[in-house]
Amino acid sequence: MLAVALAVLGGCGGQAGRAAAPGSTGSRALARAPAPNAVATAAAARPATPPAPSKPTASVPLPPIHQWPIPYGAARKLQMAAYSLRHYGENTFVLSHPKVIVEHYTETADALQAFNTFAPDVPDSEFHELPNTCAQFLVERNGRIDQLVALSLRCRHTTGLNWTAIGIEHVGFSDAAILGDPVQMSASLRLTRWLRCRYGISLRNVIGHNESLSSPFHRDAVPAFAHQTHSDWSHADMGRYRALLARRPCPSTS
Ligand SMILES: [Zn+2]
Repeated sequence: MLAVALAVLGGCGGQAGRAAAPGSTGSRALARAPAPNAVATAAAARPATPPAPSKPTASVPLPPIHQWPIPYGAARKLQMAAYSLRHYGENTFVLSHPKVIVEHYTETADALQAFNTFAPDVPDSEFHELPNTCAQFLVERNGRIDQLVALSLRCRHTTGLNWTAIGIEHVGFSDAAILGDPVQMSASLRLTRWLRCRYGISLRNVIGHNESLSSPFHRDAVPAFAHQTHSDWSHADMGRYRALLARRPCPSTS
């Protein structure tokens, strides 16, 4: 119980609880990086094929998306490939054919704090691993949708699912606050609908971070990570979210 309790933290995009570990300097980050040549060679063996849509998308409107990319250069890609190898047995940083969408909240008051949490590539504060955590999208309270990372790249946002999950962060401090904000929710539902229809992701695989351990796609080869999750977006609140999403079906699937 204690281990589980300790593992269940709050939101995912804030500085709280994310202060860099003592000695987490840039040079330490480099020192912890995998052997570049070995990973690069293996990664090169897997072509970086962009994820292909599995369902028609023509009739699902793409919401306006503000491009606000965090730095995700060659070093971070190599670190993500090494992370994927350790945790999933896959030496690649490429996200292809995603099967899950995970909803999060940032535990920050604004988008910039979340951006500044994800942008520097330092070991995360929880497990002290590289690369730093991130999410592909961020939904702000004013309805702006920011894309922080390309859909072809993996992000560390949900232990056990980063190999196949798209992460959507919401600026805020609780599920209830976001569910009660019609502007933010409208943007969130438009984005999630477009993504799930584009990739043919079923409604049940649109989950909250707190539901991660019960996902059929959850797996992690590192024991310390196998039962780790966060408290953001409970099952009850995701039931409400999915009910709203169900009113916006994909044309060809539901
Ligand atoms: Zn989360």
